[in-house]
Amino acid sequence: MVELDLSKKVADRYLKREVLGEGTYGVVYKAIDTETGQTVAIKKIRLGKQKEGVNFTALREIKLLKELKYSHIIELIDAFPHKENLHLVFEFMETDLEAVIRDRNIFLSPGDIKSYLQMTLRGLAFCHKKWVLHRDMKPNNLLIGSNGQLKLADFGLARIFGSPDRRFTHQVFARWYRAPELLFGTKQYGSGVDVWAAACIFAELLLRRPFLQGSSDIDQLGKIFAALGTPSPSQWPDMVYLPDYVEYQYVPTPPLRSLFPVASDDALDLLSKMFTYDPKVRISAQQALEHRYFTSVPLPTDPNKLPRPAPKREPKASDFDSHEGPTVLSPPRKSRRVIPGRDGFEGNSLQRDKVEDNVGNSRQTAGDTTGKNDPAPMSLDFSVFGLKAPSRPTINSADRSHLKRKLDLDFQQPE
Ligand code: AMP
Repeated sequence: MVELDLSKKVADRYLKREVLGEGTYGVVYKAIDTETGQTVAIKKIRLGKQKEGVNFTALREIKLLKELKYSHIIELIDAFPHKENLHLVFEFMETDLEAVIRDRNIFLSPGDIKSYLQMTLRGLAFCHKKWVLHRDMKPNNLLIGSNGQLKLADFGLARIFGSPDRRFTHQVFARWYRAPELLFGTKQYGSGVDVWAAACIFAELLLRRPFLQGSSDIDQLGKIFAALGTPSPSQWPDMVYLPDYVEYQYVPTPPLRSLFPVASDDALDLLSKMFTYDPKVRISAQQALEHRYFTSVPLPTDPNKLPRPAPKREPKASDFDSHEGPTVLSPPRKSRRVIPGRDGFEGNSLQRDKVEDNVGNSRQTAGDTTGKNDPAPMSLDFSVFGLKAPSRPTINSADRSHLKRKLDLDFQQPE
């Protein structure tokens, strides 16, 4: 009884607002934490009748985020189950790097580009130091707060990596950001895949459009080789042994300067090191941060002063026109849109729509980054998922037991 009361309290805590977007595993919506007044983003992950793999993905995200507390990593504030969904409560972020890059009203100076790249690499270097790969680096997974701070988000696909014989699924990256070793089907890869993706993002910041837009994996490799030259076996000795290796017509390496005419020499030197074909030779995120590009003038712009898309106006109840229907406040792109009527939520209305009476709950104090709560993180009541705690993870058949060990959540079993 006491537990139910407590659950109800947690469920009542969040006041739902508009849908912010939809990711691979579910809808993300804006909400107000009525206890702290803080605006948050709640990611609702469907767990119910789907395969165990999806359940496990959710748990993996919790575990990873719990461990990754850093100024350039999105903060997980709370997590609780409700019906067949797991709700993850994150700090709310105003926009993302994709919106910045696409906004034609924004001029990005060399110092601005440097600052965005520096924050991206700082987040990555931190993950890699903790033996975690992000694995889904792309501009709309780099969220930006109202203070200009960029944070890595969406660890739904990230994985802890360790022993050299680990095997992974290679179909994880959005294709345009995928490293050549993944496109050639490697099963064993490391932090270099994130660095390659960061290089694509760096190039995108310079060009203001995605750099290598392949329409298939084969085409993606073709685009890479056309832009950066076909790698020779001496440049990348392991390439010819990769599972999906096919020989491509030889294209000589064009000077990067021809592709990025206005970039500085330092920018191009760093970019070429991040775009190194052989992942064993590719620069690491930490080494990239130590590159002279970041200490040469112009220095990285103070995040507070970075240009960002104009903030969306907060909707007022008086804005609603019952004849016209709710107004779309965001640009019509997948990642930032309002989906009226979705999920019981009515457009931009301020109508109270709290996360209803849930069963079981888990809490971590909002904003507590002191680490003092770390040993007692979110406690999940798996009975609401119709599940036991996952003893047999099913993301990938290859390394289940290893994953189980690595990602063993310290959740509480229901009493
Ligand atoms: P994801 O499932 O992480 O891909 O999220 C889907 C979309 O929801 C993203 O593209 C963002 O536009 C939005 N979103 C995710 N997390 C947040 C957040 N913490 N703050 C604001 N918007 C978010």
